[in-house]
Amino acid sequence: MPIRRLPALLVSQIAAGEVIERPASVVKELIENAIDAEATHVGVTIENGGQDLIGVTDDGLGIPFAELALAVEPHATGKIESVEDLKAIATLGFRGEALASIASVSRLSVVSRPPGAQEAGLIDVAGGSVGSPRPAAGAPGTSVTVRTLFYNTPVRRRFLRTVATETGHVGHVVEKMALGHPEIGFTLNSNGRQTLGLAAQDDRRRRVGEILGRELEGELLELSIEDRGIGLWGMVGTPDIARPTTRHLYTFLNGRFISDRTVNHAIREAYRGLIDPSRHPTIVLFLQIDPRQVDVNVHPTKAQVRFRNQSLVHAVVVDAVRACLGGADLTPVLGLQRVSPPRASDPPPADFGRGAGPSGRVSTAQFVEFFRRLDPTQKGFVYSEVKQALADDAPGLLEVDRPREPSDRPAADVEILPAIRPVTDVLQVHLSYLVTQDEQGLLIIDQHALHERVMFERLKEAIGKGNLETQRLLMPVTIRVDPSHVELLETLRPLLRRIGIEAEPIGPAALSIESFPSFLFERNVDPGKFLSDLLARAEGGDLPGDTEAALQETLDMMACKAAVKAGDRLSPSEIAELLKYRGAVERSSRCPHGRPTTLRMTIRDLEKYFGRR
Ligand code: ADP
Ligand code: MG
Repeated sequence: MPIRRLPALLVSQIAAGEVIERPASVVKELIENAIDAEATHVGVTIENGGQDLIGVTDDGLGIPFAELALAVEPHATGKIESVEDLKAIATLGFRGEALASIASVSRLSVVSRPPGAQEAGLIDVAGGSVGSPRPAAGAPGTSVTVRTLFYNTPVRRRFLRTVATETGHVGHVVEKMALGHPEIGFTLNSNGRQTLGLAAQDDRRRRVGEILGRELEGELLELSIEDRGIGLWGMVGTPDIARPTTRHLYTFLNGRFISDRTVNHAIREAYRGLIDPSRHPTIVLFLQIDPRQVDVNVHPTKAQVRFRNQSLVHAVVVDAVRACLGGADLTPVLGLQRVSPPRASDPPPADFGRGAGPSGRVSTAQFVEFFRRLDPTQKGFVYSEVKQALADDAPGLLEVDRPREPSDRPAADVEILPAIRPVTDVLQVHLSYLVTQDEQGLLIIDQHALHERVMFERLKEAIGKGNLETQRLLMPVTIRVDPSHVELLETLRPLLRRIGIEAEPIGPAALSIESFPSFLFERNVDPGKFLSDLLARAEGGDLPGDTEAALQETLDMMACKAAVKAGDRLSPSEIAELLKYRGAVERSSRCPHGRPTTLRMTIRDLEKYFGRR
């Protein structure tokens, strides 16, 4: 085929292919134009998911009559002038492509009136042929209407999903834009019904609540810092409101919604160990970075960006989000909302702990049922000895329990303060859970999960300080392994050395373990079984390639194997030890896999439940 120039319409349609994937992409581009035009209110209207009609109306700066024709031409923009401007983009648009691209795959009309103008101007474009601008009636601002999207590109049209899905995508775009711009009011109308109405807002926290849902407000932690030249503000969701999809993960860079691997990875990293890996955090995070430090011109939809110093951005986000989560008490609270007291005929829950959803929420009915079913004969023991053990081991914990000197405080104060008895009585139920109290109410602790977290943190600390004790075995332990595992041993050697395991091949299918961490030894972990398991996991691809991540996984495994199990009877001193560390280790509210270690039921809820309020 001879080389020839493509017709202008086809060029635009090809460009549109990159930017305009579905009605939601049109809505995004048009809202961005309204925001760039300093609108204070943006109204979006769609019919049939936007396939029949999309209208976006704003009260912004408008387009002068003389420039209307230019606005819909490709590569025409009022936002940048030179390549210098491209290095520090302050507007959402700059490519001058959106209107032309949309016009090439739809019937587009623009009505616009700059606030100073006497009347509005109107221009129509259909299938690439631009009509001539003419005067029209219209309020100050701009109103763009897009009809029959993809009418001339049937392939695209066929790729569209159901009306409901497309409507959902449009809604999500409007939500993203609204989150990024609380100072702008937004409305969305779909098939004649208003589905979103947001007034302009000067409190961005409120806007986040409006978008994520008011009921989540109590589960969002505010983050606001400046670190190493990067400004961060956000609302960080507790692990409890993690979701199966990324829909509630919103990140913005200098006001622009982005979907960036570095930032997303950093957020995952910060939540590691707090949520189940198959779930995604609820978080709204705004990054403010000097525009010269980022290139937003790497992708036509500009959702991807390139940071000049990617590892700095990563580190700042991990540190900030982690600190925010670390500073909060993340113990899930058993809610009482939809609760009616259980009836004796209700079938017993299959398994209390495991019945909890991945977020760890247990319904109150399950909770009450759990206690109702307790067999009094094997209820466990009230350990008054625990108190003694704790007093010996961790005197600080019991301080509040000492009788107060009458002169300590005015009498009125004493009456208001509830008698706080931090950890005096502990009940081990079904040899699996520890029931105790703190100042807020009742705590139910999964002994395995908590011990696992405690072990994990202590191991991590010991390895970090380089003082993990290892023990040379008097009698090396020999294990038979797969020949492939002998090779694997070489790859894993640096990792093994860090955790204090030394092993050598003896023959083509056997290894000899010469030293082993004392800590695992003391917890009766079998060296042979441990190493075979580790090798099997590495072979199965379960160990991440990155050394730090692999180390974390291995520590996880060590912690899990060393931790007490459900069904282990704990001695008073073991219980005391466990509870002592609960307050001392980081992230003790979750086990390393992100499941909760502790559930809380507040006194307030108990009072409600028993009708005392
Ligand atoms: P870009 O936004 O990249 O400049 P567009 O094709 O989206 O390119 O828009 C072209 C130009 O039309 C913009 O630069 C702007 O000058 C003008 N324009 C588009 N939409 C609006 C609007 N809603 N209000 C005011 N001006 C607008
Ligand atoms: Mg634009």
